[in-house]
Amino acid sequence: MWSGSEQAWPFSAAARPAPRGHAAQFDGWGAGKVLMASLSARALALGAVAHYSSRVLALVVDQAGAIAGIAVRIDGALRFVRARRGVVLCAGGFIGNREMVGQYAPAALRCPQLVSGGNDDGAGIRMGISVGAAAIHMDQFFATLPFFPPESLVKGIFVNQRGSRFINEDAYHGRVAHYVLGQPGGRAWLLVDNGIFGRPMIHPDITVAAAGDSWSEVEQELGMPTGALVHTVEEFNRHAAAGDDPYFHKAATWLRPLSEGPFAALSYCPDDMPAHAFTLGGLATLPDGRVLDTGRQPIAGLYAAGRTACGLPRWGEGYSSGMSLGDSTFFGRMAGLHAAAR
Ligand SMILES: Cc1cc2nc3c(=O)[nH]c(=O)nc-3n(C[C@H](O)[C@H](O)[C@H](O)COP(=O)(O)OP(=O)(O)OC[C@H]3O[C@@H](n4cnc5c(N)ncnc54)[C@H](O)[C@@H]3O)c2cc1C
Repeated sequence: MWSGSEQAWPFSAAARPAPRGHAAQFDGWGAGKVLMASLSARALALGAVAHYSSRVLALVVDQAGAIAGIAVRIDGALRFVRARRGVVLCAGGFIGNREMVGQYAPAALRCPQLVSGGNDDGAGIRMGISVGAAAIHMDQFFATLPFFPPESLVKGIFVNQRGSRFINEDAYHGRVAHYVLGQPGGRAWLLVDNGIFGRPMIHPDITVAAAGDSWSEVEQELGMPTGALVHTVEEFNRHAAAGDDPYFHKAATWLRPLSEGPFAALSYCPDDMPAHAFTLGGLATLPDGRVLDTGRQPIAGLYAAGRTACGLPRWGEGYSSGMSLGDSTFFGRMAGLHAAAR
């Protein structure tokens, strides 16, 4: 499947676009559950033992500094578990720990919607740090303002409070969100005309900040300097009519002049549209899942995967759909293989 920015500039110019994503075969939403049910059932069939209602509290280290086990609360009782091969930390990221977010990724505080299962409090990362692990790219995070579907909205253009464009809107929505958040005051509007208007599926109650029969009416209602927004739309329309976007390189498929009234500006300002986020920074690891200390030496017996580690997605603006799940499953498997072979 196509998973994000492959077909969008600048990525489309750097690598031949190809659908590089994979999903479990399932009609509609819910393929993730199908995938997890299959993987869990297979793990249990192979003899893995799962403990629920459990919380790992700390790592236990032997005198040589290798990871010897964990302290864990299972059904309310404190237990110590020896790890003969190793401990793989897969406790998610830290978006739910607002103190940590403030310390490491303050820009993500602007995203009040937490993309997490509710337990992403950074416990895994903190356990790693407690035994000397390096935590890297801790300022990076995935963010989104899901402005489509409907896909017709990708044909709209985002402008900031100066009436200027700032991104090719056909980029992955997470990349677009980072650019929106980076505008003065995090304020931006998606300009649409009657031909492409629709309510975004995830936020159907979107605020229509301005509407009018001409772009100058919309500009006035948004309180922008006279001519700023009108000039931007005229420029965009002139080039879009020729199938071109020389300023931001939006692909021709998404280019269409915004000329069919009435016209509107959908608000993606912080008060109207809360951004969603999860963190991408985490423990430094090798491709086989071994956790590295600050001197880039592996910590014996310690592994990490998923958002507890800083795996492939190291750059919020370059993130595409699937990069977190793929990263978790692939490097989780690598960590398990390496630990099992110890
Ligand atoms: C609605 C939604 C849609 C998403 N869509 C996509 C998508 O399309 N593609 C994509 O790649 N990603 C997507 N994501 C993100 C992706 O699901 C997560 O980034 C990914 O699941 C992270 O996996 P993980 O194993 O690192 O952590 P998690 O899946 O968060 O699992 C961590 C587990 O560790 C447990 N835990 C935490 N602390 C402790 C502790 N101290 N002791 C014991 N257990 C602990 C937690 O309870 C949790 O069960 C989506 C997320 C959401 C919420």
